[in-house]
Amino acid sequence: MKMSDNCILRFFSGLSDAVMSCLLILGLFGGGLAALSAPAAGQQVTQQTSAPNAITGLRLGQIDVQGQEGLRIVVEMQSRPETRLLLLDSPWRLVIDSPSTSWDSRLLPAGDLMKAPASRYRFGHPAPDIGRLVIELAVPATPVRAFILQPTEDGGVGYRFVVDLIDGGPTRFAVARQALAKSRFQPEERAETVTPLSSVPLPAPRPDRALHSKPKIAAPITPVQRPKTFVVAIDAGHGGKDPGALGKKGTREKDITLKAAKMLAEELRKTVNITPILIRNSDRYYKLRTRIKRARDKQADIFVSLHADSAPNSKARGISVFSLSDRASDKEAAYLAQRENKADLIGGPDLDGEDPVAANALLRMFQRESMNESAKLASVILSNIKDLPGGDKRGHRFAGFAVLKSPDIPSILVEMGFLSNRQDEKNLRDNSYLRGLSKRLARAVSLYLENAES
Ligand SMILES: [Zn+2]
Repeated sequence: MKMSDNCILRFFSGLSDAVMSCLLILGLFGGGLAALSAPAAGQQVTQQTSAPNAITGLRLGQIDVQGQEGLRIVVEMQSRPETRLLLLDSPWRLVIDSPSTSWDSRLLPAGDLMKAPASRYRFGHPAPDIGRLVIELAVPATPVRAFILQPTEDGGVGYRFVVDLIDGGPTRFAVARQALAKSRFQPEERAETVTPLSSVPLPAPRPDRALHSKPKIAAPITPVQRPKTFVVAIDAGHGGKDPGALGKKGTREKDITLKAAKMLAEELRKTVNITPILIRNSDRYYKLRTRIKRARDKQADIFVSLHADSAPNSKARGISVFSLSDRASDKEAAYLAQRENKADLIGGPDLDGEDPVAANALLRMFQRESMNESAKLASVILSNIKDLPGGDKRGHRFAGFAVLKSPDIPSILVEMGFLSNRQDEKNLRDNSYLRGLSKRLARAVSLYLENAES
């Protein structure tokens, strides 16, 4: 079978991301679909959600998600899907539950997919009125986008529930799994607008027996997989044209944060199951959003931003660990976040337009869960730095730091001390002090990740 025979581009046309390839797994076409939509005798023909639904096709394709290879799953349905998206672990599974939904009898109810990270699918009824499609995953892949496509105008294709997955690692999987278990995600409906669907060649309708045979699948394409270890993104605050805070002795925050970041990476590298990633490893300026993006591109499990503060009151000292919240824990925290967020202004106006992360409803839903996880990480760090000078002084605080806004990656910011305080500045300039701090941070990160996995 040629790729063009089993590749249905119409599902992907008009969407913002480039589709690198696509693959038909199962599907019904033309007359088959029309026949399926006929209502049972005595049943009212309405668009109401209670109307019985049927899954009439399942397709998988590779897709680019902001520069990262992902898997697109398209579930074709007869009526508007009232789906519930869930993730389950041990083994990792994506579950799509739909009320009053059956599986078209001409489709195999289970089979191999061999399209990384999806390995198998099956359909069943966990309750009489629920149809459940399970996609087994070879890695902890998380949904980064889910929406409904409206039927095509010519009626050739019905509603489609679309889910894009990427291999984001166990921590992001856990964040997404918990968020989806707690509240129901309401996917928005989109219309395909760009390419008229009729202009894309469709495969010829197949005889029914073809649907019962094992789906013919092209050679599996394996998306780039993240390392089989935890990925920790270490963000050295400031850099380049942004020096950050300045100490009494002229110490620049950007130099301290870079040195501490490198030390933390060295310490984490000693841990067999952690791969540290430096957001910057030289004196470079990056916008805050770019820092988040770099962490996402590396499929980070967690994000640790390192800073060293300054305050008008030279007596202020100690270590603070911050996580994101809508409301700041105190005035000073709010002021600090405001000042740190201004780092973005140094780089000039942002011409990137709308933040793609914030614009995504599914990721916005994960943010709450991610904030809970970030708070857990912050408290593990605090309990590991208690013995350092000022390590127990300031504690866990909250504020709206822009760099902590990755929706599904637990993120924290450590203010390692005050450059405006004589003793703190002296400590931060002392390599053995920084090494001690890095060791404690590394131990805390490792402890958090071990627990997050179980
Ligand atoms: Zn800073």
